[in-house]
Amino acid sequence: MKTYHDLAGTDGGSGIVEQVTGQAARVAERLAPVRHVVAVMSGKGGVGKSSVTVGLGAALAMDGAAVGLLDADLNGASLARMTGVRGQRLRLDAGGVAPARTEGGLRVMSIDLFLPDEKTPVLWEAPTQQDAFTWRGMMEAGALREMLGDTAWGTLDYLLIDLPPGTDRLPTLVDLCPGLAGTVVVTIPSAVAQHVVGKSIHMARAVLETPVLGVVENMAAYVCPHCGAAEPLFAESTVEALAAAHGVPYLGPIPFDPRLAAAADAGQPFLPAHVARPAGQALRRLAGEVRAALP
Ligand code: ADP
Repeated sequence: MKTYHDLAGTDGGSGIVEQVTGQAARVAERLAPVRHVVAVMSGKGGVGKSSVTVGLGAALAMDGAAVGLLDADLNGASLARMTGVRGQRLRLDAGGVAPARTEGGLRVMSIDLFLPDEKTPVLWEAPTQQDAFTWRGMMEAGALREMLGDTAWGTLDYLLIDLPPGTDRLPTLVDLCPGLAGTVVVTIPSAVAQHVVGKSIHMARAVLETPVLGVVENMAAYVCPHCGAAEPLFAESTVEALAAAHGVPYLGPIPFDPRLAAAADAGQPFLPAHVARPAGQALRRLAGEVRAALP
């Protein structure tokens, strides 16, 4: 496979090297006022990666931090809806795009904010299924580059990037953002999810040499809304052991809380409203761990 550099001088004058170099410079400029860029990733979809991104962002903001959320999960884009900013009109001008703002002051950028309505999927046109897969990967990588290059975040303490499930996008991000502070890996206590998440940790640490800030165990227990007792949701959890086996910190459990799901569905913030609930406390603890892990 050719790299951009192999194409230098043989690209018929399209200037691809200059384009890519220019894009990287633009991303660097956009991210200069951002103190910490953190990627949130998972092995499988549906484990609560986006929910943890939003909850972590809100918990960091409760302690006074300026926080941005970037939805890089283009096919499962949900941050705009979860944070209640869907419908805000974004404008691209010479200065870039200003992100949407939640009531609580989080800045949000998502491809969802550019789609005409709720039902429109992101389509990747291609002649065959195999082409569609390749095309989608390229388009997604390109869209991530453009969003990072165009979004005028302003000064931020934390930019949390909600990556698609798996490891496909992490290399693009590491490439674009050499100063990536680290990744937070989200999993649930099911054996299948944990098997897959091990691959994500390996990719981040061993292959890309990116710091893993730790593993979050989402949906660790169900808290009874009546008596407050916590019951495990899965037969046996080995998330803590998994983190230890990979030599990365265990960032603790977050219980399943029906109000967290309801808040996301309604586009209303779970935090600070529900800070006293066990899931609220867990998200605040997680924010404390992330803060402590970064200089
Ligand atoms: P992912 O980003 O990994 O695909 P989501 O964050 O979209 O996962 O979560 C999947 C579903 O599970 C959503 O409906 C969300 O509201 C719900 N969910 C995630 N974590 C929790 C939790 N701790 N308590 C209750 N519901 C949760």
